[in-house]
Amino acid sequence: MDSGSFIGRNYRIWQRIQTAVELIYPPRCLGCGELTEADFGLCGACWRDTPFIGGVVCESCGVPLPGEVDGHRIECDDCMKTARPWQDGRAALMYDGKARALILALKHGDRPELAKPAARWMAQAGRDLFRENMLIAPVPLHWSRLIKRRYNQSALLAQHLGRDTGIEVCPDLLHRRARTPVLDGKTAAQRAETLAGAISAHPRQGSRIKGRDILLVDDVMTSGATLTACARACHAAGANHIFVLVLARVAKDA
Ligand SMILES: [Zn+2]
Ligand SMILES: [Zn+2]
Repeated sequence: MDSGSFIGRNYRIWQRIQTAVELIYPPRCLGCGELTEADFGLCGACWRDTPFIGGVVCESCGVPLPGEVDGHRIECDDCMKTARPWQDGRAALMYDGKARALILALKHGDRPELAKPAARWMAQAGRDLFRENMLIAPVPLHWSRLIKRRYNQSALLAQHLGRDTGIEVCPDLLHRRARTPVLDGKTAAQRAETLAGAISAHPRQGSRIKGRDILLVDDVMTSGATLTACARACHAAGANHIFVLVLARVAKDA
């Protein structure tokens, strides 16, 4: 038996299992729980209410920008004011409306199944970032928070993203040495100071970073302080280029 027919047969078996699973558990909308036909995870109404990012975006953080692509690098005011320690960044959603509810459910609501469709949206938004021999690294969570939440939502997104794109994932490439206080409500400078030195390459994994392009993955980017700390840790460990891909970007006035 050649491998082609083997794969073909396995695929057909897999399809039959999928169909059986769908008969028992018909797909439901991730946003409202209604039955859906599509594989996107959202019903039509929730899809319309979810602020997906498209069109012209800031090359550094992925926030949508007015105007048209003219072949020059475009950046938002934030990224022009504070140069990012990474090459390019993208976001799948704006942190608003339905997207905010989905992300809070993924983060605090114990709904890890949201990570799979979310990673697919990220794979779409980040398609220009993917490189040969890249390594995906999730933003780390301190172990004490990990116990409370049971899973690191960024690591979950990274794993699904790796499956969707075929890019290698290293879940513990970076680690948080100190437990940092919640950053919400702090200024950019305060966030940066709180995080300085808190994140570093894991001693066991540091050698995997050297000379490689790293894709940092997180659920939400607000000021970018956490991603900045992660990027600096990767640079310190000898990374080549660093890219950033998040599920959602918080708008400046949000
Ligand atoms: Zn819905
Ligand atoms: Zn930007």
